[in-house]
Amino acid sequence: MTLMTSVLVSANLGKNHAAFSARMAQVNDLLSASSLLTWDSRTMMPPGAVVCRGHQTATLTMLAREILVSDETLRLLDASEADAHMLAEDAPERRALQQTREAIAMHRRIPAALQKERAELRSTAQAAWIQARAEDRYALFAPYLEKTVELARQLAEAIGYSEHPYDALMSLFEPGETVATLQLLFAELRAGLLPVVRAIAEKPAPPSDFLRRDYPELLQEKFAIEIAKKFGYDLTRGRLDATVHPFEISFTRDDVRITTRYSRNYLPASLFGVLHETGHALYEQGVDPAYTRTPLATDLPGLYAVGGVSFGAHESQSRLWENHVGRSRTFWALHYPALRQTFPDQLSDVSEEAFYRAINRVQPGLIRVEADELTYDFHVMMRTELESDLIAGKLSVAELPEAWNALMKRDLGVVVPDNRRGVLQDIHWSSGQIGTFCNYTIGNVMAAQLYAQATQEDAVIEQALATGDYQPLWQWLGDRIYQHGRRFSRDELLIKATGRKLDSAPYIAYLSNKYTSLYA
Ligand code: ZN
Repeated sequence: MTLMTSVLVSANLGKNHAAFSARMAQVNDLLSASSLLTWDSRTMMPPGAVVCRGHQTATLTMLAREILVSDETLRLLDASEADAHMLAEDAPERRALQQTREAIAMHRRIPAALQKERAELRSTAQAAWIQARAEDRYALFAPYLEKTVELARQLAEAIGYSEHPYDALMSLFEPGETVATLQLLFAELRAGLLPVVRAIAEKPAPPSDFLRRDYPELLQEKFAIEIAKKFGYDLTRGRLDATVHPFEISFTRDDVRITTRYSRNYLPASLFGVLHETGHALYEQGVDPAYTRTPLATDLPGLYAVGGVSFGAHESQSRLWENHVGRSRTFWALHYPALRQTFPDQLSDVSEEAFYRAINRVQPGLIRVEADELTYDFHVMMRTELESDLIAGKLSVAELPEAWNALMKRDLGVVVPDNRRGVLQDIHWSSGQIGTFCNYTIGNVMAAQLYAQATQEDAVIEQALATGDYQPLWQWLGDRIYQHGRRFSRDELLIKATGRKLDSAPYIAYLSNKYTSLYA
């Protein structure tokens, strides 16, 4: 798909489509502006501005929503659709129209009162969660979680579903995924990965104390940003800043920013954090320029200015660069000398092999965000299971901590000592987000599927990786994934790129091979 065709087709559609596009560009502009305020609030903003900033982002998002669902937009949509029948079903313009129609219908089904109630709950629930976590008192947060679940159920009813109310919630983040499809996927992952986890739990862990030496932040930044540039991150359209909870955020493909959290006494946090966020950024920077400010670079159901097609697809790109490239033997064979040069005192007595083993150390633990590559998905699977049971009414908020602890014991063999390190650890529920944990695991599975396909399909990619040339891999991902923005669904992208939809086999093979050989 070339840029030229896209522009020509748009010209053929004439003034109706131009008017529709101009209207949708306003929606994207407002959401981009809101995102920029969000970026500022998490990097630069003085704490005193927090209340006003909340009003500002809420106002911008509300204006974007009002334009989207307005009768005028619907009128322009009707007119443009009437012209679009001559185009192929998957032509970018037709997909933009179709997605806009679906998004308008969905937003119109959600009562304004419910929207308002959810927004208000978010602001109070977060404060309650922070206090509950600090004091390890689940009871302080439970009433808010109760309300969050209740409102999530109402949201699910408004959105609509055919089998499980949780399906409706997931559709906002991972369209097409259902409780039924996840049950199959999770069963495959459990069967494939649990034996590897169990076998490793018996082996001695490699030493990794040296990762906790003193690593000055500026040097960490210097090293990581060099790698990000090598991966293809364009700093004329991006930048790296420090924050508390790292993220990537974009305001069109021409301004895609990443953030990191420097931990002076733990090297991997920021090092792999930057590689992770760079993967997200490459996706956003690589969207077809013709899609800028169109529905194909706007998450209309979620009201968010983002070019990637689903949260899982997005996560596949961060995981691919962070893990398949950044945690590989090939990568460190090339870059370890430079890391050692950056930190000569800290790493002088650490061999490349010891470093490689340390950054791939497996240790079943309590905290999801600190989990290693092999045990991470178990944290995700249990949360997804618990969330869908909460939404279905099979599990109560009061029963949740006990259910949580039981699943941690069952899968990872760890005993949860308190709720702070158990059920209260994640920020998601306090911000009203239910239905989004599965994206992390879907991202992992999809990353492995794409990486296996890329390296099998084109021998040049792996040869180039061995010399530190990331261009061929970046190009392959750009062709297959990045450029399409939100034009194709996640599974459409996967079928085009690999010949099949989401498939757990490459991921299970990757983890089994890697960790069986590491712990042989
Ligand atoms: Zn991510």
